[in-house]
Amino acid sequence: MNRRLNVVPFVDVDNMMKLVHAIGIERFLVGLAHVIEADFRRWPAFDKTARVASHSVDGVIELMPTSDGTLYGFKYVNGHPKNTRDGLQTVTAFGVLCDVLTGYPLLLSEMTILTALRTAATSALAARVLAPAGARTMAIIGNGAQAEFQALAFRALLGVDRLRLYDVDPAASEKTRRNLAGFGFGITICDSTQDAVMGAQIVTTVTADKQYATILTDNMVGSGIHINAIGGDCPGKTELHADILHRSAIFVEYAPQTRIEGEIQQLTLEHPVTELWEVLAGQAPGRRSASQITLFDSVGFAIEDFSALRYVRDSLVRYPMFSELDLLADPDEPRDLFGMLLRAEPSLA
Ligand code: NAD
Repeated sequence: MNRRLNVVPFVDVDNMMKLVHAIGIERFLVGLAHVIEADFRRWPAFDKTARVASHSVDGVIELMPTSDGTLYGFKYVNGHPKNTRDGLQTVTAFGVLCDVLTGYPLLLSEMTILTALRTAATSALAARVLAPAGARTMAIIGNGAQAEFQALAFRALLGVDRLRLYDVDPAASEKTRRNLAGFGFGITICDSTQDAVMGAQIVTTVTADKQYATILTDNMVGSGIHINAIGGDCPGKTELHADILHRSAIFVEYAPQTRIEGEIQQLTLEHPVTELWEVLAGQAPGRRSASQITLFDSVGFAIEDFSALRYVRDSLVRYPMFSELDLLADPDEPRDLFGMLLRAEPSLA
C-alpha cells in the first residue's frame, strides 16, 4: 500500500464486511488464527498490561494497548449487557495500529466484527491443543452476537460439525440456527443448558450478564470435556460454578488480567493456571489425558487485537477495501502548525 503518512487507511464496517466476504469467513478465521498463534509464540517480545477498565452501573469501557517494539496497537471496547434491550450491541469496538518509529497511525479499523472473529479464532486455537481428540459436537450456551463466529471457527480449525444450542431467549437460538443454515452443521436447539451439554465434547459459554451467574454447574460437567468460557470477562461477571474450576486444568491468555476478570477471580491468587502462549510455544503441555477437564478461561487480550489489526493491514494489500482518512495535521514545515491553521482560514470562509 503506497500512501501519504498523514492519510490513514480506514476500514469501516461496510469495508470490513466486504473484506471478510472477499477472503471467505472460514478462511479469514484460519488466517487470523495463524497470525494470533505466531504472535502468541513470540509472547515475550510484547509489552503487556491488564486492560484499563472504566466500570459503570450498566457496563464497562476498556482500552487494550500492546506493542512488539515495531508496531503499537490499541482497541477501544465496551461491554453493556443491557444494550440489546434498546436495540444496541452488547460489545462494540474500534482499534488503531501505529508505527513505533514515527508514532504515526498505520490503520484505523472497526473492531466490533473483528473482535467477534478474533475471539472465535483464539477460542478455536486454544481448543486445538485442549479439546479431546476428534471432538465434533459443541454446545453453545448463549446464542447472541458471538455465537455463529464461535461455531465457524471451531469448524474451520477443529472440524466441529454438530451444534447443541441453548439460550434463555429461544429467538436467539432460532436466529443462530437460521444464520448457520447454509454451513452444513447438524444443529439441535435445546431446552436447557443441562440438555445442551449432553453428548458435547466441547462446551462454549458465551452469555452476557453483569453479575455472577452460574451457567454451568458441577453436575453438568463430565470427565474429558473442554470448556470454552467466553462470557465471564469482568470483575463480578462469571459463568461457571467454582467447583468446576477446582476439577479443571485452567488455561488463560494473560494471567494478571484474567485473575481480575475471568472465571478464576473466584479462586485464590495462588491457584495454578497455564498461559495459552506457553502451550503454543511448546513450553507447557495442553491436554494431558482423555479424562482431563480442560478450561479456556477467555477474557480477550490486547495481543489478539494487535494480531487482528496486523492481519487486516496485511490483507488490504491484496484486497484494498478501505477509505482514506485525513486524520493527522501535517504542515509542510513541521513546526508551523499554527501557520497551517491561519492559511486555511480563507478557504474555509
Ligand atoms: P449478546 O448480548 O449478543 O448475547 C448474549 C446471549 O446470552 C443473549 O442471547 C442472552 O439471551 C444469552 N443469555 C444470557 N443469560 C443466559 C443464560 N443464563 N443462559 C443462556 N443464555 C443466556 O452478547 P455477545 O456479544 O454474544 O457476548 C457474549 C459475552 O461474551 C459477553 O459477556 C461479552 O462481554 C463476552 N465477550 C467475550 C470476549 C472474549 O474475548 N472473551 C469477546 C467478546 C465478547
